Amino acid sequence: MRALITGGAGFIGSHLSEALLAHGHGVLILDNLSTGSIDNIAHLKGRSGFEYFIDSVNNEPLLAELIDRSDVVFHLAAAVGVKLIVEQPVHTIETNVHGTEVVLKHASKKKKLVVIASTSEVYGKSDDVPFREDSDLVLGASTKHRWAYACSKAIDEFLALAYWKERKLPVIIVRFFNTVGPRQTGRYGMVIPTFVRQALAGEPITVFGDGTQSRAFTHVADVVGALLALVGEPKAIGQVINIGNTEEVAIQALAERVRALAGSQSLITYTPYDDAYESGFEDMPRRLPDLSKVTALIGYKTQHNLDDILVQVIDYFR
Ligand code: UDP
Repeated sequence: MRALITGGAGFIGSHLSEALLAHGHGVLILDNLSTGSIDNIAHLKGRSGFEYFIDSVNNEPLLAELIDRSDVVFHLAAAVGVKLIVEQPVHTIETNVHGTEVVLKHASKKKKLVVIASTSEVYGKSDDVPFREDSDLVLGASTKHRWAYACSKAIDEFLALAYWKERKLPVIIVRFFNTVGPRQTGRYGMVIPTFVRQALAGEPITVFGDGTQSRAFTHVADVVGALLALVGEPKAIGQVINIGNTEEVAIQALAERVRALAGSQSLITYTPYDDAYESGFEDMPRRLPDLSKVTALIGYKTQHNLDDILVQVIDYFR
């Protein structure tokens, strides 16, 4: 099979590219390097079956040609990272909504399977954990820019499901829960690369809020394994599917674990959300997936726990 990966030079896209090539599949990457990096795919250049195009999904003639040449499209190109979203809301909304719109439009002409990357962020402020795919999405006020990301991704989900319902375009929607691992950058706000970089540099580790908020982090290899299995499972078509991990950790405890594993003497500091992001910023206290659907579909089981993840990310930054 040949796969088109939009956002293929990004963190998840580059790992997915590697895995597809390792399984003998062809890979076409379309990436405008807005948050991705050529360094992420430098080691894949020249590999048989691998091609990359540095351009935007808004180049519709190119997008249409690449879709035509592919059997499956992984649409990962998006504006991601809470910091980026709060600082550049126009870019976030336009990229996430318009990008998905053009990918679905062109895939629909050729009836190519499309995997849409969504996010656990769509569950918003809901406290009904663990989150099931049919749970309510509870978003905050539109004056709080953080929610623009969840809302843009929710629109992507609605649109993909609409294409499936109305035009029989095969789509699979995956909601990623805090995917982490080597190559992820902290530049756009993600907590693990940020804490690891701070710990290794001996700088203060910056916990936002009081640190009691928790997350369950997923190793990118587990996410990639699930993506490969899902595109081979006909029952996944037309479904919204959580992909995550259930090992929950409070952010304060995460800071301590990073510091210990990195052998660092860094101070752990606490910054109010208003100063860290924007005035009135809202965080979610817990975010935990219900994984029964993905487990039933493909026998999903995570291979990496949080300590594995942290050790690998620390090695990567070193
Ligand atoms: N966070 C933090 N310090 C940082 C970056 C993030 O304490 O330097 C917190 C953030 O407020 C959130 C959690 O870590 O509660 C996870 O943040 P991230 O941006 O990685 O992902 P999110 O789950 O918010 O999408």
